[in-house]
Amino acid sequence: MRSWVIRKEKIKQYLTDPVDKRDYNKIISIEENIKLPEISEHEALIKIKSTGLNFNSIWTLEAYPVDSFSLLSGHIRRNPNDKKHLRDYFIPGSDASGHVVQIKENSTFKEGDEIVVHCASIDSKDLSLKDPMLSNTQSVWGYETNFGSFAEYAIVKISQLIKKPKNLSWAASGCYMLTLGTAYRMIATKNGLDAKNGQTCLIWGASGGLGIFAIQICNTLGVEPICVVSNNEKAEYCKKFGAKKIINLENFSEKKFINLDGSFNLTMWLEFSQELQKLIGEKKVDLVFEHIGKDTMGLSIYVLKKGGKVVTCAATSGYLSTIDLRYLWMEMKRLIGSHFCNPLEAKESSQLLADGKIYHEPSKTLEFEKLIDGVIEIKNRKSLGKIAINIS
Ligand code: NDP
Repeated sequence: MRSWVIRKEKIKQYLTDPVDKRDYNKIISIEENIKLPEISEHEALIKIKSTGLNFNSIWTLEAYPVDSFSLLSGHIRRNPNDKKHLRDYFIPGSDASGHVVQIKENSTFKEGDEIVVHCASIDSKDLSLKDPMLSNTQSVWGYETNFGSFAEYAIVKISQLIKKPKNLSWAASGCYMLTLGTAYRMIATKNGLDAKNGQTCLIWGASGGLGIFAIQICNTLGVEPICVVSNNEKAEYCKKFGAKKIINLENFSEKKFINLDGSFNLTMWLEFSQELQKLIGEKKVDLVFEHIGKDTMGLSIYVLKKGGKVVTCAATSGYLSTIDLRYLWMEMKRLIGSHFCNPLEAKESSQLLADGKIYHEPSKTLEFEKLIDGVIEIKNRKSLGKIAINIS
């Protein structure tokens, strides 16, 4: 089959290039004759119609902070039954829409079914846990496991299958699950903010893959989203998804919330608070939806009201951030970590789309060969919402 492939023999040399100079074309290429192994019990072989780009494609193609083969080794340590994933090649990709081609076990799904795949790969013995995301066997499919979606066929656990929403095109279906499921757990569930009607929620990167769903989930809950973007085009894009209160960082007098030495840029913080005051009549919010990390975490905690909550699932701008702990404990705020979502949360969030309660359309659809162009667009903060990749 046709597939984007990273070859193990190339990794060592690639890692000698500085991270910011790594040329994705040196590490990944299209191959025509990849043969997937046989599926095991609890697995399904799927034929992919469409996939989507995620920020984890950047981590994969930069082999940073951990390269794919090291991540795979970690997965096998936690899942010794998945040894077949250890190959001399790696196929990335964590979102897909398509058809079930082969399935080994009795399931509500059968061959020919139209499906979407969620990326929580969890051993079947752990699926009955209250929150299967807390299981040690959990890995992100196509990031920590092999046989991902940048190919004509992929291998997934049966528990990763979700009925394709009938109201969505193949392209739209193939590029929502990872970010929608993540945003849903972060905002709507007790595993995250457990946001409630009448609260305000600051959403960083609101025009991005997580942001466009975060805005809509807030709106369905009666929570007021306050959307942060970096330019007018992104502000306009957010409006398509229901954003009304928008902070455009382009209009600020300075560009960074932290100084080069890691200390807080108080001028920017005060300007930010003033913007909130103008928009919502107060300088603080009830909730913050974080994934920027280093550049914004200190501010996110600062702009919370007493008793407020920040949830984070990432650190796009850097992992090591400075927090003034006084703002946390004196005002009894909470910082919550979150990671993708469990199968039930994936199903519930997908149902919001199927029921038409939230809207989704990729900002663009690229041909298979153009996949690297899309990843670079995301890296350069030029992308809007989700980018779909046509497979068959
Ligand atoms: P996108 O690239 O689609 O969107 C990210 C947005 O963040 C950009 O649009 C950009 O918006 C904003 N941004 C980036 N850097 C900065 C900065 N320094 N300051 C302020 N804003 C910034 O990515 P996703 O939304 O798909 O993912 C975001 C992060 O979440 C990634 O790190 C990803 O790996 C992680 N993630 C984690 C998941 C998990 O399960 N743990 C699941 C999904 C994503 P603008 O230019 O307007 O500021």
